[in-house]
Amino acid sequence: MKEATAKPHLTVVEDEAALVELLRYNFEKEGFRVTTATDGEAALVTIAESKPDLVILDWMLPHVSGLEVCRQLRRKSETRDLPIIMLTARGEEADRVRGLEVGADDYVAKPFSPSELIARVRAVLRRAKPSSAQDLLTFGGLVMDLSAHRVLRDGRSIHLGPTEFRLLRFLLERPGRVYSREQLLDAVWGRDIYVEPRTVDVHIRRLRKAINAPGEMDLIRTVRSAGYALDETTDA
Ligand code: CA
Repeated sequence: MKEATAKPHLTVVEDEAALVELLRYNFEKEGFRVTTATDGEAALVTIAESKPDLVILDWMLPHVSGLEVCRQLRRKSETRDLPIIMLTARGEEADRVRGLEVGADDYVAKPFSPSELIARVRAVLRRAKPSSAQDLLTFGGLVMDLSAHRVLRDGRSIHLGPTEFRLLRFLLERPGRVYSREQLLDAVWGRDIYVEPRTVDVHIRRLRKAINAPGEMDLIRTVRSAGYALDETTDA
């Protein structure tokens, strides 16, 4: 199958030169365009200038850590939805969760194979790409404008990361229906990738935080041992 679209563009942020070259070689071979930065400050400049489709961000960087770069990217409107995959030498679950909580879309522990990372990048890019079947999805004061890639609740603008956006979109397509973590993983993350069911909880928590202002009704219902639904009658 021929690709009619422009090459996807990645920025690799990593201070280990050998790893940068390994990633550049492998991603270019797979048809990606690759720009690089070797520290956190340079990364913020490179990303602002070159506007990549996705960032591969090492956790351990000189000067400004990967975690802080991620946080700063999420704070700016231009990069709020930019897909980010974090690389880390630490394999602990707590770090994985921390990475996801500052706004990374996925997390790959070192050492990893280039083909594993390529598969993750493809999956994240696929979910980040908005498709235009229907323009507006609404429920309980929530409005998702798919063409403008915007979400409002009672007229208030809501900022979501790409994964939360996909998750909310999926829930908005069938309000009231309960989905298990596995069903959400298949629908939002894709079947070809292994993601722990706990990851769903992390993203649901982020989604709740984003859409529910203090004192507002929680629009996401937790169904014990079953999963989650978008609902106006909450009993979590
Ligand atoms: Ca590093």
